[in-house]
Amino acid sequence: MNPVDIRIPPALLPADGRFGCGPSKVPQEAVARLASAAPALLGTSHRRLRVKDLVRRIREGMAAFFSLPGGYEVALGNGGATLFWGAAGYCLVRRRSAHAVFGEFSAKFAHEVAAMPFLEEPVTVESAYGDHPTLGHVDGVDLYALTHCETSTGVAMPVTRPPGEGIVAVDATSAAGGLPVTVGDCDAYYFSPQKCFASEGGLWVALLSPAALTRVEELRAGGRHVPAMLDLGLAVDNARKDQTYNTPSVATLFLLVEQLDRLNERGGLAASARACAAKAAHVYEWAAGSDYARPFVDDPAKRSDVVCTVDLDDSVDAGDVSAALRANGLVDTEAYRKLGRNQLRFGVFPAVDQVDVERLTASVDHVVARLRGRP
Ligand SMILES: *Cc1c(COP(=O)(O)O)cnc(C)c1O
Repeated sequence: MNPVDIRIPPALLPADGRFGCGPSKVPQEAVARLASAAPALLGTSHRRLRVKDLVRRIREGMAAFFSLPGGYEVALGNGGATLFWGAAGYCLVRRRSAHAVFGEFSAKFAHEVAAMPFLEEPVTVESAYGDHPTLGHVDGVDLYALTHCETSTGVAMPVTRPPGEGIVAVDATSAAGGLPVTVGDCDAYYFSPQKCFASEGGLWVALLSPAALTRVEELRAGGRHVPAMLDLGLAVDNARKDQTYNTPSVATLFLLVEQLDRLNERGGLAASARACAAKAAHVYEWAAGSDYARPFVDDPAKRSDVVCTVDLDDSVDAGDVSAALRANGLVDTEAYRKLGRNQLRFGVFPAVDQVDVERLTASVDHVVARLRGRP
């Protein structure tokens, strides 16, 4: 049977079919509120009160949501987590960084830093995809790079400080908002808002410790030339005035505030992490109990509660399953493209409803039965 001809019964279909790992589901209610706010907001100056108010609400809302320790600051700027890698290379790495590399995103940061002529070759500690390495102390390293959730594989790693000196930067792009964290255990917890924060891309947000802020100042004084867009000092200066260095997407700020307020109203990070864990548990239990699927990550402690990866056995083609799902409006369940596995990947970010995740797995069962020729 041609996968795209399979019809999933309406009773099984999720109310919302967006299961991608970023961009991910943006609640329609938030978009509706943006539409009604738009005439007085979109197309107005980002240096005026309405837009600065959004930045202030992001800074205050993030501080509350993450129970930010004293002295930590929320900075933000354009360009997303990818830009932050460049900014971190310029403004946080003094000479040499060490990276836990266990997927596409963690590898990209290491590559970015490796190409910077004013830095020494970074240390990389790698593990096979589906696992994560542990970073121990490395002599001469002044920044340790962790990835809270490796979105390409669905592996989550703990946020902990390697012993000794060195600041700790954590790529939390898919994790922030859905996985538990003690922000005091790191110095730069950075992310983009198109994953757990149900907004659009193009922005980075970073929670910076006093040690990270001191490092920025130290390197600023040291005379390294930093392109303005990558200058975390400029980003911090502007954030303190509730603005970004250059023009932001006001719609992105608005949608981020919407989701942040909702998550704070619903019990903050602890409640959000519990809800994501329940959705992920459903997926992993379904896969483990299935005769054709299993969780890709062997160690249950390393399985992400926001990005769920599920391997299928050779009797079922994951590409066919995703194509059939897509034809029924259930989108972006494909595995990370470069992973090259017979795999499905589901984002179960805070905006995704538990009942929709349950319907998603029921829909997959339906599709697989039809692909195997059952009525
Ligand atoms: C999505 C993602 C990125 C890239 O984010 P952009 O906003 O596209 O720059 C980086 N790291 C991780 C872990 C991600 O999930």
